[in-house]
Amino acid sequence: MISVNEALSIVANVSKNHAYKTLSLGDALNYILYEDVISPIDMPPFRQSAMDGYAIKWSEDDLFSIAGETKAGDSHEFTQEEGEAIRIFTGALVPDTADTVIIQEHVKRFKDNILIKKMPAKYANIRQRGEQISVGNTALKKGIKLNEAAIGFLACLGIVQVKVYKLPSVSILVTGSELQEGGRPLKPGGIYESNSIMLKAALYQIGIKNIQIKKIKDDYNTTEEGIENALCDSDLVLISGGISVGDYDFVKKALLANQVEELFYRVNQKPGKPLWFGKKDDAFVFALPGNPASVLTCFYVYVLPLIREIAGFKNYHLKKVSAKSISNFKNTSGKTLFLKAKLQNKKAELLTGQSSSMLNSFALSNAIVVIDESTVDVKVGDQVQCLLLEN
Ligand code: AMP
Ligand code: MG
Repeated sequence: MISVNEALSIVANVSKNHAYKTLSLGDALNYILYEDVISPIDMPPFRQSAMDGYAIKWSEDDLFSIAGETKAGDSHEFTQEEGEAIRIFTGALVPDTADTVIIQEHVKRFKDNILIKKMPAKYANIRQRGEQISVGNTALKKGIKLNEAAIGFLACLGIVQVKVYKLPSVSILVTGSELQEGGRPLKPGGIYESNSIMLKAALYQIGIKNIQIKKIKDDYNTTEEGIENALCDSDLVLISGGISVGDYDFVKKALLANQVEELFYRVNQKPGKPLWFGKKDDAFVFALPGNPASVLTCFYVYVLPLIREIAGFKNYHLKKVSAKSISNFKNTSGKTLFLKAKLQNKKAELLTGQSSSMLNSFALSNAIVVIDESTVDVKVGDQVQCLLLEN
């Protein structure tokens, strides 16, 4: 059995391929840029009026005659003489002959003339060509996460596609002869299958939509075949259940029969001790314990960081913060504990219902408190490490 830190470093250090894909800009939210994006244009592409007003060549005079009008989208040429103003609106191309825009509130308008009540500094109210970015310069650097502002910025440069780190495709293989679909009465001894939909939701949350789900009985041949197919279909295989030591737990044997290399099995943690991690070619496999809270905890602690690292994230672990415990807790297990907690105002409450089978407390948590294997007592007021479940 290995420690949590050893298991985490095995996951972090295993070699990973970073693939890319080209996406329409509109589909690229929350992906990581795979390469620098170079601006194909100056932005603004021309000298642009920032206000509604009058474009003039700056002078000490305050009386101008109006010699024309231009609005956003117009492209007229003007012959603007000394002492002439062009009526202009926000977003319009500023005539070459003008260097300053007077906002309309600072002008007294007569029929064909204006009197400037307040002359601004020369060049006022004009957005200079390329003032945001010039053609050929780096608009966004490789490695940044595309948020809505970044997507808007690239769109205003006329970019319609981006190269991003590819998210892995995932197969979820659910094992258990007792498992039943919801929506129908339970048979004696049956329980409703919840891990697949929960894992799917957790994957959706981080943008993964390419997910296959297969449900199988506790039967060796079906398990071996299910793993073989999942390895063909996906970059990452998540197996639920059947990895413990019971007579009907066939997952480990079936993984080894499929030549998946074991990188670790069993971690000194609670929940989630029977956790198996392995690799075959470029595909990764996590065999997660069947208990629902173990599945989700192992997902947050091990699976999510691996996915985020493959997807190009630099900070791929859940965000960690320190908080004051408002609960007492004894750790007599000698294991690292991951406890469902409610974090509020830098105070962490350890929730009741910490069993690995219980999701009721998980549903109310916004953090996981990590108690190190060597820590026996957590007292009210002690600082504890929390993994944030909401970003
Ligand atoms: P296992 O790891 O297969 O021994 O399963 C441990 C416990 O988790 C058992 O009580 C199972 O019934 C339960 N379990 C396993 N898989 C699921 C699942 N997909 N949905 C809900 N409970 C499950
Ligand atoms: Mg089982």
